[in-house]
Amino acid sequence: MNDYESDRTFRLFHDQYGYDWIEDPKEADLVLFNTCSIREKADQKAMSGIGELKKTKDLRPEMIIAVGGCMAQMQGDDIKHRFPYVDIVFGTHQWTKLPEMVEQAAQDGKIFHTQQVDIDFENWRNYSFLPFHDTETTHPVRENVTIQNGCNNFCTFCLVPFTRGREVSRPVADILDEIRKLADRGVREVNLLGQNVNAYGSDRRGEPQFVDLLDRVAEIDGIERIRFVTSHPMVMNIEMIDRLAANPKVCEHLHLPIQSGSNRVLDLMQRGYHIEKYRELITHFRKRMPNLALTTDIIVGFPGETEEDFQQTLDAVREFDFDESYSFIYSPRPNTKAAKWNDQFIPDAIAKDRLYRLKALQRQIKDQHSKKYLGQTVEVLVEKIENRAGEDIAIGKTRTFQTVNFPGNKQFLCNLKNVKITNTYMYSLDGTLEA
Ligand code: SAH
Ligand code: SF4
Repeated sequence: MNDYESDRTFRLFHDQYGYDWIEDPKEADLVLFNTCSIREKADQKAMSGIGELKKTKDLRPEMIIAVGGCMAQMQGDDIKHRFPYVDIVFGTHQWTKLPEMVEQAAQDGKIFHTQQVDIDFENWRNYSFLPFHDTETTHPVRENVTIQNGCNNFCTFCLVPFTRGREVSRPVADILDEIRKLADRGVREVNLLGQNVNAYGSDRRGEPQFVDLLDRVAEIDGIERIRFVTSHPMVMNIEMIDRLAANPKVCEHLHLPIQSGSNRVLDLMQRGYHIEKYRELITHFRKRMPNLALTTDIIVGFPGETEEDFQQTLDAVREFDFDESYSFIYSPRPNTKAAKWNDQFIPDAIAKDRLYRLKALQRQIKDQHSKKYLGQTVEVLVEKIENRAGEDIAIGKTRTFQTVNFPGNKQFLCNLKNVKITNTYMYSLDGTLEA
């Protein structure tokens, strides 16, 4: 989602105000930090990035530094005081106001340095989604499209509802309009984004709901594949799975965070489901989509997690045979419920050991999955062509989101090709074009 916002903001500044992309922030006219707060490490990374620019700002006071997104939302005043040379601090609801703020900073800067801070959150119901701006820039074959902002769930570990506010669904017409324009510019695959995508539309009575939206997206000429992230096991249901499976453009690729394999921990997390519900969903999914690639998120070392709880997580990883799991050590976040349970915190060494064991198991499973592709013919959407040792190699993804490399040429770009897999690696597959 942050990538999407950064990308759309760049396009806005590029197309409307003539800004170009520059690699080295030290030479930029405008440096924009789009911060994340999901774990403490993300906060620290942003803080050190901002700190590194102090010297440059001293040398080039006309450079405008803007800090926005989730960390700015949570710690706006703090950032203002800690980094007095930052020109703009804006929250998660001010993206569309940014050009105005930058213009103001440029004008003020000619006379004296001021700091603008806008992290107003009160009006979350009127969240304004970044509009589609595109006149000159080209698009990759796969694009993200935000369909929803915020979350109503308040899992006890998570900062998202505090940083992004409550769920707001983007109007259907705007989403379809953006996807039509993307399709006209060569985009063949869309990835629909939201913190709780399955709940899309539940804040707009009488409007299309999540699966209805996907059916409408599938009607757009040029769009060959649809993905979406992130789904929630509490909101997902059997009927939804049937509708997804009936839509031929929906890829056999689901990211469904499980977080833990222990019902006791899931309750502490207030996730709203038990492992039995997760099992029921996956069983049904695999019945309807036999090739389903399933990925997940897992937190280890949640306050009070015992070795037995953790063993249940390992059992779940084996049982559900995840293609990939994105696993994290629990990180206490301000304002969240679980952050107050410090008498139950898991010592770092134990949490690290659990993460290590989990990752080792996941690697084994992933390795077996990759090997299964050997000899299979898969459909690849070609994203780019690279010259490697004098040979043009086409690179793209399968419907299950595996990367495939095979000899090809520029005419293959943005096309679907059938490829026979001849070699498998942990993170990619090699193949040859099927005649
Ligand atoms: N809306 C999605 C998740 C968004 S956050 C969902 O409900 O699944 C992405 C992932 O970050 C989460 O799935 C979780 O595994 C992880 N995460 C969130 N807060 C965390 C925290 N405080 N510590 C460690 N991991 C966290
Ligand atoms: Fe955070 Fe996801 Fe839970 Fe919402 S559903 S509170 S985004 S983990």
